[in-house]
Amino acid sequence: MEGISLFIGLFRKARAIILRREVEIVGQCRLCGNCCRGVLLKNRDRWLRTEAQYKELCKDEPGHERFKIMDKDEYGNLCFACSWQGEDNLCKDHENRLQLCKEYPTKGLYYQGGWLGADCGFSFKAVKFRDIFMRRKRALIPSFDKILQQEQDKKRSNS
Ligand code: SF4
Ligand code: SF4
Repeated sequence: MEGISLFIGLFRKARAIILRREVEIVGQCRLCGNCCRGVLLKNRDRWLRTEAQYKELCKDEPGHERFKIMDKDEYGNLCFACSWQGEDNLCKDHENRLQLCKEYPTKGLYYQGGWLGADCGFSFKAVKFRDIFMRRKRALIPSFDKILQQEQDKKRSNS
């Protein structure tokens, strides 16, 4: 994951509700391993910011002990490296990776304001206000066939 922004998350949620369109996750994994570095972790609905919170998570879910604190992102969240990542960037035990690894990337990540790395094979596909506006605009412009038909009808009625 590349980062999260609370404000962007709230905006995305509101837009999805107003437009009644859910985000879609498209694409496929390219096995680059980038999402296994700089991982952000959550416990009890909050992003981890302190070592104490990380220890609490490991107590609740010991499988997370494979992570090591690297640094913090610009929002103050802890970024982790995973000790299960091999030198080839692949997971050393792919079959037994954590549920969060199996589910990545989730729609929840999108609605929390998260975004994916530029190299990730997945992307979020969301309908935007601009898309709806352009669709309505196109629907209001009569098609060339329709205009031609109207012109022919006019000529017929005048002759
Ligand atoms: S960053 Fe994307 S493409 Fe790379 S391993 Fe993770 S999910 Fe796959
Ligand atoms: S357990 Fe495997 S898939 Fe999950 S973060 Fe670690 S290396 Fe990546």
